[in-house]
Amino acid sequence: MSSPPTFQPVLDRIAAEIDKMPERGHPADYIPALAACDPRRFGMAVAELDGTVYGVGDWRRPFSTQSLTKVFTLALDLAHEADELWEHVGREPSGNPFNSLVQLEYENGIPRNPFINAGALVVTDRLHTQTGEAAGTLLDFLRAESGNENLAINEDVAASESAHGDRNAALGHFMASYGNIGNPVPVLLDEYFRQCSIEASCADLALATGFLARHGIRADGTRLLTMSQAKEVNAVMLTCGTYDAAGEFAYRVGLPGKSGVGGGVIAVVPGRCTLCVWSPGLDGHGNSVAGVTALDRFTTITGLSVF
Ligand code: GLU
Repeated sequence: MSSPPTFQPVLDRIAAEIDKMPERGHPADYIPALAACDPRRFGMAVAELDGTVYGVGDWRRPFSTQSLTKVFTLALDLAHEADELWEHVGREPSGNPFNSLVQLEYENGIPRNPFINAGALVVTDRLHTQTGEAAGTLLDFLRAESGNENLAINEDVAASESAHGDRNAALGHFMASYGNIGNPVPVLLDEYFRQCSIEASCADLALATGFLARHGIRADGTRLLTMSQAKEVNAVMLTCGTYDAAGEFAYRVGLPGKSGVGGGVIAVVPGRCTLCVWSPGLDGHGNSVAGVTALDRFTTITGLSVF
């Protein structure tokens, strides 16, 4: 009898290759907690649809999720208010840095997509209106999907984000001037900085992303998103999920993905599995150098891609 298929040998092979990479990029340095991360750290996890998880390296070590959370707040808000959201945020790649203000003025305070900071602020604002507690709702969701009750917000990181948050404050106030923010901007910013400061491991995040591979179905079998909404989130990840290098990511990896400046990247093989990789060294666009390389190797070795 042949043994069941497993991703473990693929992960072990990728980790051995990554270990030989001389250049790993530089950790984000806008707050001390991220700047102190060792760029040689590397972890990777793959979760199958039934919750079986494989991992290698630092795959159980919590890291700062940062912009990875934008995927989950988008899904949670879509689950609450459906298409109404798309009247307040677009779904086109921006071609500008993630924290850019410039396009907002030409587009009447409507951000280009939910994954640039302006768009994520709108999504968090709307989720906060829907639930009364955006960051808490997100944390509950991540705990439930990962099965890890210990997931938490790092309040020191949140305070540091706030202390260095002038650009996000500017984005919030600017959009509020167009009527595209419903809550007081300081309340919104507090929720957003706490959202970014959730810590989770590759194993936690690969599991939590599973609903996107299961076409909208949560770990407990209930439905979070319709099939169409799950497709929408995957499509926006593919086109807008990796800062202004989404074209290069689609070319190299060929999967919907989302990166964060903490060095995490999540990716989805619809109908098959989800991945999370972490390595804190970033390239000039803000994407993890070893993380993108590992995902590139995964799709090359396995042939699993959406194309
Ligand atoms: N907290 C960061 C910010 O809003 C998140 C950046 C990111 O991961 O893209 O500036």
